[in-house]
Amino acid sequence: MTTSNETGWNFDNSYARLSQTFFSKVKPNPVPSPEMVILNEPLAKSLGLNIDALTSEAGIEVLSGCKVPKEAEPLAQAYAGHQFGHFNMLGDGRAMLIGEQITPEDKRVDIQLKGSGRTPFSRGGDGRAALGPMLREFIISEAMYALGIPTTRSLAVVTTGEAIIRETELPGAILTRVADSHIRVGTFQFAANWRPVEELKSLADYTIQRHYPEIRDAENPYLGLLQNVIQRQAALIAKWQLTGFIHGVMNTDNMAISGETIDYGPCAFMDKYDLATVFSSIDREGRYAYGNQSYIGGWNLARFAETLLPLLHENEEEAVNIAQDAISEYNKIYQNHWLEGMRAKLGFFNEEEQDEALFTSLLKMMQKSGADYTNTFRSLTLGKLEETSIFDDQEFANWHGQWQERLGRQKESKEAVNELMRKSNPSVIPRNHRVEEALSAAVNKGDYSVMKKLLAALKDPYAYTIEQEEYCKLPGPSGMPYRTFCGT
Ligand code: AMP
Ligand code: MG
Repeated sequence: MTTSNETGWNFDNSYARLSQTFFSKVKPNPVPSPEMVILNEPLAKSLGLNIDALTSEAGIEVLSGCKVPKEAEPLAQAYAGHQFGHFNMLGDGRAMLIGEQITPEDKRVDIQLKGSGRTPFSRGGDGRAALGPMLREFIISEAMYALGIPTTRSLAVVTTGEAIIRETELPGAILTRVADSHIRVGTFQFAANWRPVEELKSLADYTIQRHYPEIRDAENPYLGLLQNVIQRQAALIAKWQLTGFIHGVMNTDNMAISGETIDYGPCAFMDKYDLATVFSSIDREGRYAYGNQSYIGGWNLARFAETLLPLLHENEEEAVNIAQDAISEYNKIYQNHWLEGMRAKLGFFNEEEQDEALFTSLLKMMQKSGADYTNTFRSLTLGKLEETSIFDDQEFANWHGQWQERLGRQKESKEAVNELMRKSNPSVIPRNHRVEEALSAAVNKGDYSVMKKLLAALKDPYAYTIEQEEYCKLPGPSGMPYRTFCGT
């Protein structure tokens, strides 16, 4: 019999040493018959975990929340959040942090079970999760990682053997999520609203120590924290825009202080370029539409800044000025990241004043004609212009001429341009119809081969291999717009 220690768990639970008001200790919630359906072996190895032990009965008992490994201290984190603009008290209603794993490379990461049962923060929820959405998070978060976009990771999905009740009965499952931490803007909102300022300060000090230790001794470390989070979120959201990723539920409790993408409920990648794209069934006003993400990022960061006011300066007016100055930088920082990304997508090594106009005129043509976002850049990369839907257009011909002239004004060779474009334009993304096909085979037929093949194609989205070509194809015509759901 394997013991949990043979698995390689190496916990040091610093969050559990914060004031007890930041979390609630939770007990494991046994499930009838846990079975592992997918394991991320490369990730497991990088965490220092032994694959055989992890897939043994004892290993699976841990990943299904049935048993607590030695030195784990399961807890549910308290947090609050603006959900679609409305402030709520939330917390891990269906997640349990089992501990912080110290990896062989001395990195600290949270190991969290999602769907592991009710916690004191569950409110009306059952604390459980369905298999389809957990597999979906596995696919999309791993695709994001391969695309080079900061993200929480997925270690494993286990089925519970329990049916959960949604609109119909669905198989229950638990996802093991790995994150630099689960500290969110909402964690600070919880502290700022409901805890004394000393506890807010202890959370801020803890966060600085954990994520931004280099600013510990700065003159105003809390301003440093705000500026660093602004930097990371601006960089992150620019990456989402550049790859056509729509998060779908950018509530403040879903914005991680580490700068990782977190919460893969209603997210999806856009096919046709359209700023108004929304997939989430509950986002009727388009608050979290593709074209709104950078604005919402700024809105959320302003909420973060508000929580830090008592720490930024003892004089409130001064504190507000400091916060406003920092927040006012966000748009510029975001725009610079986006421009830098677009330059790479079009093969530019240097900067020219007119670059932005060149980008916007291409995007305008794409918006007008409903061109596929990923494949337009893929066609430009491959020089297969006839594959773009805007190819026949005179306006595109003019644009193409300007682009070629612009490339001619830099000293880099054609080969270098091509290499940069290949590194910056993925040929495969987890297209919705492909993800659905994989989930349907897994959930309805217990056939995981479709998902594994998809995961293999997504592993190196910049490889441009023959095997990947079938994943570049667009979905056939469908009468129904694609819809995604929260908290499923
Ligand atoms: P999310 O939409 O995943 O960001 O969740 C928003 C809030 O609802 C968080 O506090 C979650 O922990 C909680 N929540 C979501 N789904 C469930 C569930 N099935 N049971 C209990 N709490 C849930
Ligand atoms: Mg969430």
